[in-house]
Amino acid sequence: MINLAVSVVVGLQYGDEGKGKVVDYLSRDYDIVARYNGGDNAGHTLYRNGTKIALHLVPSGILERKICVIGNGVNINLDSLVREINEIQDKFGFDPLPYLYLSDRAHIILPQDIEASKGDGNSTGKGIGPSYARKASRKGIRLADLYNISDGVKEERFEVDGINRLVEVAQRFRHKTVNVSKFLHEARLKGQSILFEGAQGSGIDLDHGQYPYVTSSSCVSGGACTGIGIGPTRIDNVIGVAKVYTTRVDGNQESPFPTQLDSELETLLRECGNEFGATTGRPRRCGWFDLVQVNDAIIVNGADEIILTKLDVLDNLDEIKVCVAYEIDGTVVNDYPETDFKLRKIIPIYHNFNGWRGETTKAITNSDDLPRNALRYIEFLQSNLLGRIIHISIGPEAGEVIKLKST
Ligand code: GDP
Repeated sequence: MINLAVSVVVGLQYGDEGKGKVVDYLSRDYDIVARYNGGDNAGHTLYRNGTKIALHLVPSGILERKICVIGNGVNINLDSLVREINEIQDKFGFDPLPYLYLSDRAHIILPQDIEASKGDGNSTGKGIGPSYARKASRKGIRLADLYNISDGVKEERFEVDGINRLVEVAQRFRHKTVNVSKFLHEARLKGQSILFEGAQGSGIDLDHGQYPYVTSSSCVSGGACTGIGIGPTRIDNVIGVAKVYTTRVDGNQESPFPTQLDSELETLLRECGNEFGATTGRPRRCGWFDLVQVNDAIIVNGADEIILTKLDVLDNLDEIKVCVAYEIDGTVVNDYPETDFKLRKIIPIYHNFNGWRGETTKAITNSDDLPRNALRYIEFLQSNLLGRIIHISIGPEAGEVIKLKST
């Protein structure tokens, strides 16, 4: 197991890699789990004994009853947060609020932001883009502002429709609102371990993703520094999460996706992997694993360790492919292109594998017991990835994980 004090879990693809399940599993070994980016557009799906929950704002350490912190990099929809707290209480029989702490500097999603995102087919319609734009244009309202408003402070920025209701809802969280940077600094000094949880993935990071087909926040591991208020010197390791294939969800399906499958195989993979958005229910586009894209993400994130997810989803295929390089205008390319224009020209170069057929990866705990072709597939990925594969996930429940031998 990973015996480090401060770790980051980050998505290496386009989101939906299974970070929620991974954080739920890893959180057993940490004292605190802290979310650093995104909003309720994220949907981190967790299972306990068959009961499912998609967490949108509450960090994925909550079912392990760890201290859960929402950082300043997260834009909060207070109504969603209240709904989620009630859902946890209903499904799992405990009140999560005592475990929860919120950043006083986190921006609040306003009703106007949600309205503004509704017509955008590429958006989840949660107001995420407009609220981050509001933040960048210095017109945002932070959680601490809501308490100031209730204490009678007046500012032009605060004069927005619906603000009084938000001020009221926020009172429930007043005693749980803290300076997260200082809170975690003190926890660290006391010897507590912290797991930072990223939302979405590097492929849609505002700076390093497939611009302009990106989300509005900093998803990469460095986002933990700004989205929490922790210096890079305090982070011990970065764990990247990737599916053993690729998925991409965008309403208009316009973004470049070099390894996307043809429709019959895509439908099969989508159904086997239940590849429908946890927040919107939108069908995810599915494609083969893309080594060029994932290695680019490993570099951007400094992800020395990798957890691969959803190996079981490939159980029913005759043939599996991995994209090892791109051909662009007749030239072999090993770097992830910087523009949409070049990305659309990619002809993937594939390495082909025989499948292993049948429900063979379920219930395996030791990598030696994997079907031979599954092992070959993993070994090939290991020898071509720029980080070390430490675990393989073979099912949605927190315990369905194979630890690789060298760990
Ligand atoms: P996240 O946003 O990265 O947490 O990912 P999502 O929760 O949106 O999507 C991942 C989906 O895959 C969820 O439904 C998980 O329960 C599921 N999942 C995670 N790991 C595995 C796995 O190893 N096998 C299978 N079959 N499902 C998994």
